Amino acid sequence: MYYGFDIGGTKIEFGAFDEKLERIATERVPTPTSDYDALISTLASLVESYDNKFGCEGKVGLGIPGFENATDGTVLTVNIPAASGNALRKDLETRLGRVVALNNDANCFALSEAWDDELKSEKSVLGLILGTGVGGGLILDGKVISGANNVAGEIGHTRIPIDAWFLMGENAPLFDCGCGNRGCADNYLSGRGFEQLYAHFNGEKKSAIDIISAYRGGDSKATEFVDLFLELLAMFLSGPLTAFDPDVVVIGGGLSNFDTIYSELPKRLEKHILSLSSVPKIIKAKHGDSGGVRGAAFLNI
Ligand SMILES: [Zn+2]
Repeated sequence: MYYGFDIGGTKIEFGAFDEKLERIATERVPTPTSDYDALISTLASLVESYDNKFGCEGKVGLGIPGFENATDGTVLTVNIPAASGNALRKDLETRLGRVVALNNDANCFALSEAWDDELKSEKSVLGLILGTGVGGGLILDGKVISGANNVAGEIGHTRIPIDAWFLMGENAPLFDCGCGNRGCADNYLSGRGFEQLYAHFNGEKKSAIDIISAYRGGDSKATEFVDLFLELLAMFLSGPLTAFDPDVVVIGGGLSNFDTIYSELPKRLEKHILSLSSVPKIIKAKHGDSGGVRGAAFLNI
C-alpha cells in the first residue's frame, strides 16, 4: 500500500493507493498552521488509522510546496509555517518507525503524470507547471531526479535566455524573483508572469482568462501579446529540452488549459532546439489537482 500526503497551506490531502496504483481511500484535513507537533500528529494519526483499516504498514510519501535542505533535513516552505525550519521527514520517520519519502510538489506532479498509463513506458518525463509560478520536475525510469541539493528540475528559477530578452526589446522588464534573484522564468512564463508581462507591455491589468478570451476574439493587443509570450516560452523551454532531452513534456497549472500552447510550442521550438533534436511529445497533464497526492504516494515505488 502506498500512502501519499499533499501538504498545502490550508489543507492536507491524504490518498491510499493499492499495488495497482489505484486510489482506494481519500481524506482531507486542515493543515495545522503554527503547531509543528500537531502537524506531525495529524500525519501520523492518518497513517496509523489507515494501517489499521488495511491491516498493513503503508509506505509513506509527503509532497510539500517547498524543499528539504540536503544537509540538515530541515524544510523550507513559505506556505506551511508550522513545518518550515523543521526536519519534517526525519521527525515523521522517528514517530512512525519507518522510512518516509518527501519531495516538492512540482516533482510530485511530474511523478504522478509519469506513472499515468499512457506515459509509464516513457523513459524520461519533464513536468512543467505554468501556474502561480513556473515549476518543473524531471522523472527518469519512473523516479524523481532530486539532485544534490534537492533543486533539480527547478527550471522556474533559471533565467530567461538572451534571445528572449532581445525579443522583448528596449522595454524588457527585469523582474525581481521571490527566490532573491532577478530574471527568473517564474516571473515571466507562469500564469502570474503572463498577466504581469501583459500589464507591463500594455499598461493595463487583465486576468489571464480575459487576455486569452480577447485573443480568441481577435483583439489585436492580445494577439500580439500571446504571440510574444509563446515565442518567449519556446525560447526558454529550448534550454531545458536540450539540457534534459526528455521523451515527453507534460504541462500542468492554470495556463495548461490554454490549448494554443500545444499547437504552437512544437512549431516554435523547432527553431530554438539543436538541429539534430526533434521536439518531444508535449501534452496536457491528466491528473489535475490529484497529481500532488498521487506523486507523493508514488515516491516509494
Ligand atoms: Zn527565482
